[in-house]
Amino acid sequence: MKKLLLLAAVAMTLTTPVRAAGLSDAIKADMPQLMALYRDLHANPELSMQEVRTPAKLAPEMKKLGFEVTEKVGKTGVVAVMKNGPGPVLLIRADMDALPVKEQTGLPFASKIRATSAAGVESGVMHACGHDTHMTAWLATARRLAAMKDQWSGTLVMTLQPGEETSEGARAMLADGLFTRFPKPTYALAFHDSASLPAGTIGFTSGPSFANVDSVDIRVRGVGGHGAVPHATKDPIVLGADIVGALQTLVSRELDPQDAAVVTVGSFQAGTKHNVISDEAVLLLTVRSYTDKTRRHLLDGIARIARGKAIAAGIPEDRMPIVTVREREHTPAVFNTPALTESTAALFRRQFGEDRVREVPPPMVGEDFGRYHHADTSIESLIFWVGGVPKGKWDAAGGDPMKLPSLHSPFWAPEAETVISTATEALTVAALDILKKT
Ligand SMILES: [Zn+2]
Ligand SMILES: [Zn+2]
Repeated sequence: MKKLLLLAAVAMTLTTPVRAAGLSDAIKADMPQLMALYRDLHANPELSMQEVRTPAKLAPEMKKLGFEVTEKVGKTGVVAVMKNGPGPVLLIRADMDALPVKEQTGLPFASKIRATSAAGVESGVMHACGHDTHMTAWLATARRLAAMKDQWSGTLVMTLQPGEETSEGARAMLADGLFTRFPKPTYALAFHDSASLPAGTIGFTSGPSFANVDSVDIRVRGVGGHGAVPHATKDPIVLGADIVGALQTLVSRELDPQDAAVVTVGSFQAGTKHNVISDEAVLLLTVRSYTDKTRRHLLDGIARIARGKAIAAGIPEDRMPIVTVREREHTPAVFNTPALTESTAALFRRQFGEDRVREVPPPMVGEDFGRYHHADTSIESLIFWVGGVPKGKWDAAGGDPMKLPSLHSPFWAPEAETVISTATEALTVAALDILKKT
């Protein structure tokens, strides 16, 4: 029996490269059409939750491939379902939105689009986070999996998600019944292009992979008066400055040094004139962590420090600081489940070779892909990176991403063809593995 199993395992490893060679050839044949789509998406970016043209372009493509397509899920999202026998339900997500950034790449298909954000600010719009590569590889993966239907069994739920950059989209799709109106996933996959890896390289992190992101407002209230009569006032600027200083101890003195976190005061506004002590100062904070426990500690600590410092300053009880955590803007950390991450990383190493697959440290930025696993922690979930920095630029920078345009930069121009073909191959083999026939 053992021998038989061993033989079966050998047979499997022998057949994998044959299938893989066919796969990369098929993707190569698709590339001219895919690059035309990519350039079109790149030249026509749309802001978060304003995606109209983008889903209208992609939804019919999915219908043509035989998916059952539902539009306007979570305002502008698309859900495309393909049922193909018994087995797991695999969600593959791409995000659709662009950023209020005026493109400066100089590419022939650079965006000239302008739009007005929900906050009423008009600006240039650019796919500066590379979500156009995500959508193109997503469609390419759907094509491959539809063409290889005889090689897998299960259900594919392919989603185009709006509003990733504002952390609204995943929440909106879940609230609109993503897990109740459609088959509920047992697995979830996505990728993000990377400005910190050479083109065609895959990066992954097991466990916490993107940060919890919170926005916190502190309204420091004092008692205003004449700048020359400070003893008759309670100066909110002095108190605010004291709070800013004390907040630094949350990470440096209260957390385990191995537990990464950030408390940044990004805005401190108060006062109008040299000789007036204002009666209010407003601090705006971004707070980052990787676990629910650390997040709670930081948020509670901010409220405790604000109140404690106000008491020390003799602020009356009815003028205590008002600390508001903007729950609507919270993005939960992304957790790559270890079992799926490890099996997929091993699969990628076999597919692409050891040199092209590397473990990377998690960044302190947010990604609302984490919401799907957060909504049901039994879902095996993985988001991985696909490097987009052209090799020449990578070498010229000595492999130091700090010398290169980052994601969200108006100069970020990934080597799109490599990102799309690598991501398509990676998503397809990962899907075939998850949905393999038993
Ligand atoms: Zn982004
Ligand atoms: Zn992004």
